[in-house]
Amino acid sequence: MKHLKTSTVPQTDAEFPVIEELLAGNERFRQNEFQEQYDRYSTIARQQHPKVLWIGCSDSRIQSGHITNAQPGMLFIHRNIGNIIPVQDWNFASVLEYAIIHLNIQDIVICGHSDCGAIKALDGDIDSPFIQVWLNNALEAKERVDATLASPATPEERKNRLRCIEQENVRLQIEHLQKYPLAKKALAGKKLQIHGLYYHLDTGLLEKIQ
Ligand SMILES: [Zn+2]
Repeated sequence: MKHLKTSTVPQTDAEFPVIEELLAGNERFRQNEFQEQYDRYSTIARQQHPKVLWIGCSDSRIQSGHITNAQPGMLFIHRNIGNIIPVQDWNFASVLEYAIIHLNIQDIVICGHSDCGAIKALDGDIDSPFIQVWLNNALEAKERVDATLASPATPEERKNRLRCIEQENVRLQIEHLQKYPLAKKALAGKKLQIHGLYYHLDTGLLEKIQ
């Protein structure tokens, strides 16, 4: 194989089968896609010019680039439980700062999704103190929906309520984002647009949230 260095990772250590599976997958990636698209990969190895800051949930079933057919280098990604933007958060603030000031990103996506464990946990069905504290940043989404929606009586209504909260949470996090001085300034200067998206795990559809 031209271009490719031989892997220095031991290939016979079966002590960690999941990691071995990932490394084997990486070897296939290098021999196939990486090799076939070497020009593109060698270009992005030197620099990145992503177009979008994508804020999504940590859920393992959603790979932002995969569900959008976005190529490596297109999305600058920040993920956490519940695709949340706390009003004051150094982790997120540093991501935002880098995205706007250093990468000149002008589009930010906040993407929610169906069957979100974080949204289910807002009803208190999780005994994890750190997660509960974290989810306080999304609590208002639940309160807004419950203030306007009748109590669900059927499984379908319960599913619909969760979907409403998942989508309201995206709107709420957009509001949080708009409070960051950097975002506020970029929005005022028409150098930034914020987009709410929602991904349906059962159909693969990604849609805009109004
Ligand atoms: Zn989620």
